[in-house]
Amino acid sequence: MIVCDGLVKIYKTNTIEVMALQGLDMNVAKGELMAVVGNSGSGKSTFLNMVGGLIKPSAGQLLVDGKDLFRLSEKQLVEYKKNTVGFVWQKNSRNLFPYLSAIRNVEVPMQFCRDNKAMKSEAKRRERALELLELVGMSHRKDSLLHQLSGGEQQRVAIAIALANGPKLLLADEPTGAVDQKTSLMIQDMFRMLNRDLGVTIVIVTHDVSLAKKVDRVVMIRDGKISSERVMKQGYLDR
Ligand code: ADP
Ligand code: ADP
Repeated sequence: MIVCDGLVKIYKTNTIEVMALQGLDMNVAKGELMAVVGNSGSGKSTFLNMVGGLIKPSAGQLLVDGKDLFRLSEKQLVEYKKNTVGFVWQKNSRNLFPYLSAIRNVEVPMQFCRDNKAMKSEAKRRERALELLELVGMSHRKDSLLHQLSGGEQQRVAIAIALANGPKLLLADEPTGAVDQKTSLMIQDMFRMLNRDLGVTIVIVTHDVSLAKKVDRVVMIRDGKISSERVMKQGYLDR
């Protein structure tokens, strides 16, 4: 699903250069549920944002779902971001509307996917939004305003939004970073369920050790390179 070859990212500011990725090689198999761990500043978010097509590498190659990401045209890259990947952030405040209901929060972004047949009409979008809220166990709160929901419940709504387009790849940046232990466990189980039932490939960036235990494989990044790797569960490749 993901093939990274010698990825380098250099951030240039007025005075300094930061080499956030220093020749990163990594493969992620289709259907895999994996975690990327590492200290703050090791390059995890840079990697994830690059796979999501949000930032470009300074050097190296990145294939996702058979596409050479940085050879795509602008239009193809927009399509890729819209249809192939879904994002979940630690703080979703940039993507969520506090004074809209949970279900409206899922419906509104779907208007940008009207080229998708399943989302053409308002009725179809409502139906799909409800289905997604059911999937994440939030249908009973569909009419609650978002700001009335707990952090964990808001996170579940954010996961529903990320799944709206049926992405092949779900990218999550510290998804349990802002919730309590119990909610964290619930979100972990949800990733496992989505991976198993929808077959979606999931990459989670986290420093949450408990979360990193519930995945197929953990890759540790240090100074923008892979420093170690652990397979937690055998057999994910045959799924
Ligand atoms: P992590 O997610 O592991 O905390 P990041 O990928 O966010 O690491 O950051 C890796 C390094 O790149 C850090 O030193 C960080 O300060 C730097 N960095 C990240 N984003 C930018 C940016 N937009 N401009 C300059 N430096 C950045
Ligand atoms: P922080 O804890 O430093 O505020 P966030 O969790 O908000 O970081 O964001 C992590 C990374 O994801 C950052 O590089 C940020 O720029 C990026 N990011 C967060 N939300 C969005 C968004 N809605 N669209 C694009 N990039 C985002």
